[in-house]
Parts: sequence; C-alpha cells; structure tokens
Amino acid sequence: MISHIKDADLKGKKVLVRVDYNVPLKDGKIADDSRIIASLPTINRILEVGGIPILMSHLGRPDGVVNLKYSLKPIADYLQKKLQYKVRFADSCIGEDAHNAIKDIKTGELVLLENLRFFPEEEKNDENFAKKLASFGDIYVNDAFGTSHRAHASTYGVAKLFKEKYAGYLIFSEIEHLGQCINHTETPFTAIIGGAKISGKIDVIENLMEKCENILIGGGMTFTFLKALGYEIGKSLLESDKVELAKELIIKAKSKKINLLLPIDIVVASEFNNDSPKSTVDINSIAIDKIGMDIGPKTVALFKEVILNSKTILWNGPMGVFEMPNFAQGTFAIANALASATTNGAKTIVGGGDSVAAIKQMEFEDKVTFVSTGGGASLEYLEGKELPGIQILNR
Ligand code: AMP
Repeated sequence: MISHIKDADLKGKKVLVRVDYNVPLKDGKIADDSRIIASLPTINRILEVGGIPILMSHLGRPDGVVNLKYSLKPIADYLQKKLQYKVRFADSCIGEDAHNAIKDIKTGELVLLENLRFFPEEEKNDENFAKKLASFGDIYVNDAFGTSHRAHASTYGVAKLFKEKYAGYLIFSEIEHLGQCINHTETPFTAIIGGAKISGKIDVIENLMEKCENILIGGGMTFTFLKALGYEIGKSLLESDKVELAKELIIKAKSKKINLLLPIDIVVASEFNNDSPKSTVDINSIAIDKIGMDIGPKTVALFKEVILNSKTILWNGPMGVFEMPNFAQGTFAIANALASATTNGAKTIVGGGDSVAAIKQMEFEDKVTFVSTGGGASLEYLEGKELPGIQILNR
C-alpha cells in the first residue's frame, strides 16, 4: 500500500521531497514550467500543515560533475515567484552548503538543494550518498513521477531508509490517469504511437495489443513497418534490425483482430530540413531519393475517423518531424482530432515528451483529459512494469 502525502502528519517535520525539475531550459531560462507547476500541490500541502519541504531534483545530464549550466538556481528563483513562502537554495545537495541551508530553517520556509546529478553517486544509487540525503528529513516523499522508473539514490536508496514515506499529489494523479488506460478503459480504446523509433516502444505496443481495439502508427517508426510490408521507403528512417519484429507485430495484431493502422500517404522531402521542397505521395510511391517526414492528409482523415469514434485515446509520439514547421501538420491535425474527441466525451491522455511538446505548442493542455509529465516513466507504466521509485514506497 502506498500512502498519500495528504494523510501524513507533517507539522514541524522536515519533509525530504524528490521532485522532478528536469525542465527544458533555453538560454538559462525555463522554457516549460509544467513540471514545476505540477509539483506545487505537494509543496503547498506540506507548507500549509506546518511541514518544512526540503526539495531535491536532477536537471539534465551533468554526468556526475558540477556544471552550472545545469544548476537548479533558476528553478529556486522561479519557485520564489510562485510561492508565498521563503525559498532557500543550497549550492550543493550534500555537505556544508546543504547543512547550512537546512540547519536553522523555520516553518514557512523551504529549501531547494542543488542538482543531485552533480554527484555520480546519485545515478549509481550509492548507499552513503543516500544516507547523507536521508539525514535531511524526518519523512520522505516521492513526487517525481518522471524519474520514478529509475532506481537512483534519491528515488530508491533514500526511500529504503525511511519508515515514513509517501507519494505526492502528482504521482497519484499520474497513476490514476495512466492506470485508467490500462485497467478500466472505456472502449473503443485507441493508442496512437509515433516518434522516431520502434525500438523504444515495442514493449508498449505489445502490451497495448492486449487492451486496444485500434493502434495507429505514425512518425519515423512508420517506415520500418512499411519496409516489413515490402514497400520502397527511400531514405526514410529505418531500423533494419527491427523489420522482422515489425512483421511479427503486424501478424500478431491480425491474429488478435486488432486494427493496426499504418499511414496510407506520406509527406516526403529530398533533405532532412524544413526548407526542402515537399510533396505528398501514397505509400506505394515513395521514391528512392526521398525521406518520409510526416503523415499525409489521407492518413489524417483515416486516423481522425478512428479517433472520433473512440472512447479512450492514448497518444505517445509525434506523427512527423514536427519541430520543422513544414512537417508539423500531421502532428497538429492529430492533436486537433484529440481535442474534438475530448469535447465529444472521450478520455484522452497524452504522454511522452514530444507529443506533450506539440500539445503545448498548440496551447491544447486544457483540451485533452490528461497530459502526463513522464516520458519514459509513463511508457514503462503503460507497459505494465513496476516503477522502482513507486514500488519502494509500499509499506
Ligand atoms: P520519440 O522520442 O521516439 O518520441 O521521437 C520523437 C522524435 O521523432 C521527434 O524529434 C521527431 O522529429 C521524430 N520523428 C517523427 N517523425 C519522424 C520521421 N518521419 N523521420 C524522422 N524522425 C521523425
């Protein structure tokens, strides 16, 4: 059983909270604050009932060395603007700086510790490092859904050292929404899977075959499937070692009577860049010197019809190279279809960094039922895997 932070007695206690502030930065500024906003219910709850939050997180991949490019200081400044409480910042997550920031802290204040991954011990789940972090709190809370698929010191090792441990509001919200996808789904259930490669998503596709009526495939992985069916795919993205597997997935879908739909037309270009002239061709007419960049309008119409007839829809991965505006139409059209389906009463869940980025670019966050903060974590959850950072919270 995992306990919810809302049921904890926190008055006067130091609460060590693993949050996920791995946010995109552009020129040192926060480019997307959704993970910070998502952490506020837990932080506010702790402060409101007289607890003292000691926040810890990683940011980016500093690979175990101090690199101020990945400092959490801008996040501390941002938090200060969002909260009515005093935010302290510790220049290191362990050692004297951390001790000094915490030692005389009072109710109504909180601390954010510097990037955990400035120390290689974090990702190695080092026991001593975990002990040092654990010494800062009386109670442990994990609310870093996006990192809970990793057994690191702050998500796993630390949790092992606490008797009193809880999950925060964000983790419960993610589990509830993603759990509905895999457990209590209203049908027809449709999964839209895109993005670059099949390799990262095989398990999730297989797992979804147990639950979905429809699986719509788009993005770069389309071409490995098309190759498996014998089509010419030109210079499009291909995982040649996954062609056999794509074949097997097609056969499996048939035998399970699952409607596995591939694109029927493709927007192609000669070069992998936004300004390369584009044209739309049927899948049996991709020239050998062309690259598939997006799904075409016939595919959009086909997918849209399925989406609008579904009651539960999960979307993970863009339909094309949506970072290039000229090849973003397919992805945006699917986002539009999801918004319409939501208006018609369907439950729509978007997970995975890039489809979430597309939804945000369109300012559609409120037009779908739920936007997951987890990329890898939400996929692993949907695959039916136990996430170590959540499993360890069981009491
Ligand atoms: P993933 O992280 O696997 O969800 O992949 C997201 C990436 O897939 C994005 O950066 C897209 O640009 C890329 N992508 C989508 N469609 C294609 C395509 N047709 N060819 C190459 N890359 C693609």
